[in-house]
Amino acid sequence: MKKAIKIILWVILGIALILGGLFAGFVYKVKNGFPVFYETDIPKIDFPANQSAILLFSKTSGFRHGGSIEASKKVFAEMAKKNNWFLYETEDGGVFNAEQLAKLQTVIFNNSTGEVINDEQKKALENYVENGGSLIGIHGAGDNSHHWPWYVQNLTGAEFSHHSLKMPFETTAILTDNQADSTLVLGINKDWKRADEWYVFLENPRQKGFDILYTINGESIDPTANIPLIAPNKNFGMGKDHPVAWHKNTGKGKTFYTSMGHDETAWKDENFVKLIENGIKWAIKE
Ligand SMILES: [Zn+2]
Repeated sequence: MKKAIKIILWVILGIALILGGLFAGFVYKVKNGFPVFYETDIPKIDFPANQSAILLFSKTSGFRHGGSIEASKKVFAEMAKKNNWFLYETEDGGVFNAEQLAKLQTVIFNNSTGEVINDEQKKALENYVENGGSLIGIHGAGDNSHHWPWYVQNLTGAEFSHHSLKMPFETTAILTDNQADSTLVLGINKDWKRADEWYVFLENPRQKGFDILYTINGESIDPTANIPLIAPNKNFGMGKDHPVAWHKNTGKGKTFYTSMGHDETAWKDENFVKLIENGIKWAIKE
């Protein structure tokens, strides 16, 4: 009997050690980036002469928002058809080279998380944007898993702190900022509410020179409920002025980011889809 108890205790200890090890590994990866494969072969793309070319990049090496990514593809395809855009959808980072980037009117990081392109490809994208290109980021594209200072400085403007783990997602009003005349808010209902996974940032991008398009009242949601062990320096609340969509001119180019878009419901939300469409039109200067 005693022996049996001993065996059980050892088994429990063993399981606890394995689980602890796995958790520690996960925390390490969240903090330092997930290992990733970089594609360096240049893909064959036939860019049509008379259409704006848009790159929809959905590669992930961090958290994968599979539902949102899959739902978005159909919506982007319809949007491209309607606006006569050439949409190139890929998860292959080989496209991030100066020659092919120069043929693109905009690049969309579609819930793209983690370190998805190598240093040379990052540099090519930075040069592309600063010389007149544009970069759009959706939701997970701002989750700080990219380990890329230029990207934070020029796309998200602030480092991601965390998101509330409160389930189900909280519904709150999406408030227009002082941009009523902006083409970016055209056709979007003023009375807009949605439930999403609200990202909290360490600083307010407004203070970093970004033009804020939409905010939520940060006091209308519960911004806590993160995993306390990996959250020593978190911002538990951005206050009333909690931006959820913003943009900026970067060099001769432009950047636009929205923290909304966690799941497939976003792509059924006409206002969200309109915001993305407006964002693309603004980015490609149509
Ligand atoms: Zn999410």
